[in-house]
Amino acid sequence: MVSSSSSSSSSPGSSVKRNWSIDDFEIGKPLGKGKFGRVYLARESKSKYIVALKVIFKEQVEKYKMHHQLKREMAIQTSLRHPNVLRLYGWFHDNEKIYLILEYAHGGELYKELRRSRHFSEKQAATYIASLAQALAYCHEKHVIHRDIKPENLLLDHEGRLKIADFGWSVQSKTKRHTMCGTLDYLAPEMVEKKAHDYAVDNWTLGVLCYEFLYGVPPFEADSQADTFRRIMKVDLTFPFTPRVSTEAQNLIIQLLVKDSAKRLSLEKILEHPWIIKNADPSGTCDE
Ligand code: AMP
Repeated sequence: MVSSSSSSSSSPGSSVKRNWSIDDFEIGKPLGKGKFGRVYLARESKSKYIVALKVIFKEQVEKYKMHHQLKREMAIQTSLRHPNVLRLYGWFHDNEKIYLILEYAHGGELYKELRRSRHFSEKQAATYIASLAQALAYCHEKHVIHRDIKPENLLLDHEGRLKIADFGWSVQSKTKRHTMCGTLDYLAPEMVEKKAHDYAVDNWTLGVLCYEFLYGVPPFEADSQADTFRRIMKVDLTFPFTPRVSTEAQNLIIQLLVKDSAKRLSLEKILEHPWIIKNADPSGTCDE
């Protein structure tokens, strides 16, 4: 199903190698379970370089006809080099499985961190939003729209630096897209309406995430899917009294959750916003 037997743009550790196989790795503990397989901690035997090995069953990929999407995800992620984008070092396959050699994110899912602490401090939230804005500006420059930015797809490294993972829904395109995808709560109005959309869908999602980081729940949450759709379409945005969130943070959210995609704050302007300047840690790390 995948045309070449192995691919690697650069390799884990310093050694340059193009034809990886499972025999090159010592497999450690399972890190998690995804839609199509499992992720394991692994170590490249020669260099001792630690990676995350994502094992995907070909049968599953074929069953859900995800072959093209997976190939696209691999091609996009291999080509991206940014401190806030999870590296895909390479991949290989055998008869039954496809293996993705990924950068190891020691801190795990941001989502779990958010659920654990209920909501983030303004410093933490601003640092994550600035990291996301920088990573997305880089992706947009490369004509990549992620379209599925949500806490579950954001991982943290050992220093608490945010890493965008899972490029399953992303597209590399210079034109407007029409397909409906993404997760409900994070969908921009133009996607809910199945209208053509462009890079500005990711900017909307930053507004939703900024709200969720600060309040612990996404802004348009409702009991039914239909109600969430309605709330998104009306931009039915309210700010609870608790937890206490500064008006500067609310101002940034208001400027991102704008129905007209052309009027949303640009990624560059997000990075210049007073709340970001005041609160974001320039190193991108936050160990609170
Ligand atoms: P996924 O199949 O990408 O949804 O991954 C399933 C789970 O494995 C994730 O929710 C993470 O908890 C974990 N995981 C995936 N990739 C990594 C990674 N590169 N580093 C650490 N944990 C990971």
